[in-house]
Amino acid sequence: MTIRQLRNYIDGRFEDGASTFNKLSPVDGQLIAQVHEASQDQVNRAVAAAHRALPAWAALSVAARTDHLLALADGITRRFDDFLQAEIGDTGKPVEWAKNIDIPRGAANFRAFAELARTLDMESYMTDTPDGRQALNYAYRKPLGVVGVISPWNLPLLLLTWKVAPALAFGNTVIMKPSEVTPSTATLLAEVADQAGLPPGVLNLTHGFGPGSAGEFMTTHPDIDGITFTGESATGSAIMRAVAPGVKPVSFELGGKNAALVFADADFDAAVDGVTRSVFANCGQVCLCTERVYVERPIYERFVAALAQRARDMRIGWPLDPATEMGPLVSREHREKVLSYFALAREEGATVVTGGGVPVFGDARDDGAYVQPTIWTGLSENARCIKEEVFGPVCHVAPFDTEEEAIRLANDTRYGLAAAVWTQNLTRGHRVAQAMKVGLAWVNCWFLRDLRTPFGGSGLSGIGREGGRHSLHFYTEPTNVCIKL
Ligand code: NAD
Repeated sequence: MTIRQLRNYIDGRFEDGASTFNKLSPVDGQLIAQVHEASQDQVNRAVAAAHRALPAWAALSVAARTDHLLALADGITRRFDDFLQAEIGDTGKPVEWAKNIDIPRGAANFRAFAELARTLDMESYMTDTPDGRQALNYAYRKPLGVVGVISPWNLPLLLLTWKVAPALAFGNTVIMKPSEVTPSTATLLAEVADQAGLPPGVLNLTHGFGPGSAGEFMTTHPDIDGITFTGESATGSAIMRAVAPGVKPVSFELGGKNAALVFADADFDAAVDGVTRSVFANCGQVCLCTERVYVERPIYERFVAALAQRARDMRIGWPLDPATEMGPLVSREHREKVLSYFALAREEGATVVTGGGVPVFGDARDDGAYVQPTIWTGLSENARCIKEEVFGPVCHVAPFDTEEEAIRLANDTRYGLAAAVWTQNLTRGHRVAQAMKVGLAWVNCWFLRDLRTPFGGSGLSGIGREGGRHSLHFYTEPTNVCIKL
């Protein structure tokens, strides 16, 4: 197998890094790529190139700019199989998931924000003035400037394009830094931009890590105008400190410890299906995944048994096998973290209903990063496993007796990202969803997304919202123009 070289893309040219690091497969531990880590000088040059490109890009007509975005979407679609292989190679996620979610949604992000940029209205007011006449106020929106996009490894292309697309659509230029764990699709996106004729400097790519590397070089750079970041809450906090001296705007999509509430009046089978998906999708590595399940007591035992059966039946396998439902975790390092929570749960007194270990295949996958889908019961609500994000295929299930108790339990967390409510009583569905201290509450569904809606969380789960005109608000600065008529 050829070892791919993943280079930086700066000012319209691919560049070697000052050093390289290895990208290993989470499936069998084999070396799959060498990544060229950007130096401080390369990040500086990327920022300078983005500034040079900014005036012309911002001055393009909306039609011309959105044509560029559509060309990026088309470029992803045209190289669909390359993106698919790269995403699966980096993450080990099942082909069916990557084929239906990551890659199409990666392209869809460019289309959605092109459409939004084309159809935007403008905020304006007619104001009565003391002399009996009027004034017209309107908020003219300019690009924020050079935007740093720092993204995580769990949905690498989808979460990168979710920020690159609106940034470009609203006239900004971009430096993107993908996770060091999943550098491949970002490199392909740079190739697509290059082939599609995006002007040099509009979209730059620098590879590397956080502290002492490209991530920190970006967040401490005086000439980056804003940082949009998806990742862990602790990293968000470090980035906030890094940008504080320059008082830079940030948009943060961070971790979660999301609850699902299953009421006795729920469609039982639909709830089991939905919770199975929300716990185990992408091996539990979606920020929106459920890690705490609360079930109304009359159906509690039956629900735990049904969910455990679904976990035991889950087909864990090779990512490229279309029958595979769950692949490995993203890396051996991440598996160490997840396994440490499996051990901690036992120390904290959990009953391990199913899973709790590492599957044995008797082939190359034993060198990968697989874990068993796992269900705990019996933990105290103060246990660390109830409070801290694990980010693996695991949940705790606990009973509740009243709606008030369910709401209190779900909200008893410092995170505030997502919740799912399962009930056939629509009044209760609205009431409970509205009572959730989260940015996203689903009723009888999960991960159903409309890109025009606000996305993000509160508390440890983030700052700000993106999506639709919420993205407009982050990626532009308004100047209010007041005209006396
Ligand atoms: P991470 O915070 O470790 O890394 C994310 C990115 O930040 C990487 O590109 C990394 O190199 C960079 N980084 C790390 N330290 C940095 C620093 N000091 N300065 C600048 N950059 C730095 O997160 P991860 O492990 O890649 O992703 C998993 C986490 O992301 C989970 O907590 C998950 O919940 C969260 N997440 C949140 C959302 C959301 O929308 N809320 C979506 C996906 C993932």
